[in-house]
Amino acid sequence: MFNYSQKRIAIAFATFSFMLFAFSLVQDFSLLPYRNYPHNYVQMNQLINFTVAFSVSAMTVYLLISLNHYTAIQLIQSNNQLKKLNDELDRFVYSTSHDLRAPLLSVLGLLKLAEGNVDEKEMNRYHRMMESRLSSLDKFIKDITDYSRNNRLQIVNENVNLFSLTTEIWESLQYSADAQDIKFINDLPSNLIVANDGTRLRVVLSNLISNAIRYHDHRKENKYVKVYHNVTDSSFTLHVEDNGQGIAPELHSKIFEMFYRGNESSQGSGLGLHIVKETLARLSGTIQLCSTPRQGSTFSISVPK
Ligand code: ADP
Repeated sequence: MFNYSQKRIAIAFATFSFMLFAFSLVQDFSLLPYRNYPHNYVQMNQLINFTVAFSVSAMTVYLLISLNHYTAIQLIQSNNQLKKLNDELDRFVYSTSHDLRAPLLSVLGLLKLAEGNVDEKEMNRYHRMMESRLSSLDKFIKDITDYSRNNRLQIVNENVNLFSLTTEIWESLQYSADAQDIKFINDLPSNLIVANDGTRLRVVLSNLISNAIRYHDHRKENKYVKVYHNVTDSSFTLHVEDNGQGIAPELHSKIFEMFYRGNESSQGSGLGLHIVKETLARLSGTIQLCSTPRQGSTFSISVPK
């Protein structure tokens, strides 16, 4: 009847009951008038009492054991969660310190090279290299912010026009050097509206579309990035397809890990797809990958309707 925080009341109550019982044993005391019961009746009552007390005790013990079991499972789960977070934190500290220092060191090196150099062509080259290192540093810091925002911010439910969102994302990326000869095919209906968290969907789609641009196959003629969708009764799926480098089957599960770069030449943080996965998890969504090396990749994200 009482929970653990009321244990003092529970103990007092039990002691009081026991004292009443002890008192009734030593004193010939009864609140009710005495009555004589036939022997059969007493035996029958004892049997009923025993049966009820036995089944209630068995049920109580079962309840306590299952409660204990349930608490143990919860403890194991939170322990695993803590281990995962600790592991992530370790890798996070290692990789951030490495990835934040690397571009800074190369800019410092380039500045040293540029010192006293009067060749304009050479200087322009150094500037372009510095710019590229600094923009990768900026992307890295932005990724960390997105990652922490996803963990911190409440989920917002708003109407999001997906056609406008994907067009906006493409417009912000289309001037990058990589995107120059890539065709963007937006196959979403212009009035496609979903009720979801706009900021999180933007993070997910920006990462997928910018990857589709970054990992393009420069040897192909008709490079494209295509976005299309399909809807079922319960969920909504958005596909981002490219005909780029593709991903080897053994890497399909690894690329979603924190700081995993599947590509030697990757200038990215290795956080992008991890952020996508974690962000979708907050939206109760999932991501699937269908990819063949040298043919292309399709990332499909599904969110509940
Ligand atoms: P990165 O910062 O390296 O881009 P991501 O987490 O975004 O990190 O991606 C992890 C790896 O997955 C990339 O290094 C790349 O090898 C691979 N990848 C992601 N998207 C694509 C794609 N559309 N086509 C080919 N490879 C991809």
